[in-house]
Amino acid sequence: MGLKIKAVLIAGGAILIFVFVTGMNYRVPPEIIRSPDPRLHTPSIQVELVNDSTADIAKRLQDTLRKIDHPMNLFGLGLATPQIGENQRIIIVKDHYQEYITMINPEITEKRWLMPWTERCLSTKGRYFLKRYMWVKVNYQKIDGLKKEKTFFGPKAAILQQEINHLNGVLISDK
Ligand SMILES: [Zn+2]
Repeated sequence: MGLKIKAVLIAGGAILIFVFVTGMNYRVPPEIIRSPDPRLHTPSIQVELVNDSTADIAKRLQDTLRKIDHPMNLFGLGLATPQIGENQRIIIVKDHYQEYITMINPEITEKRWLMPWTERCLSTKGRYFLKRYMWVKVNYQKIDGLKKEKTFFGPKAAILQQEINHLNGVLISDK
């Protein structure tokens, strides 16, 4: 078999596995708000003071995502406040199985490598094809209120963009 054909087969197989794993159907917990719902299209407000109520919302986000997280999910998972009916700018992104990074007032400060991508969202039905940056640098506050800067690559960078869009009232199903 030619080297080129082998490479094509390997790439094709990898894409199939990717679509299969990321396409697994989650049993979405009832506390996640699903489209259509005006709350998903309402921009969230800046968190002025990080306090106990911020921590409560972050915990609710984590408890909700924990219900559908599984070890086979390698491509990332995230949740934003509008999806649980809150309107403050807080998101969580999966770091490792059952471990999430909480980001308050997240803001993308640098982005690179825009490419075609495919995603699902817990608040919308189906899979969508769109473009995402595969490298992003983000500024945010941690749960202790301190500022932090972090870079994300690949699927995690894509998830982060979906979650920040949620804070702006934008869904992957919006054109
Ligand atoms: Zn989403």
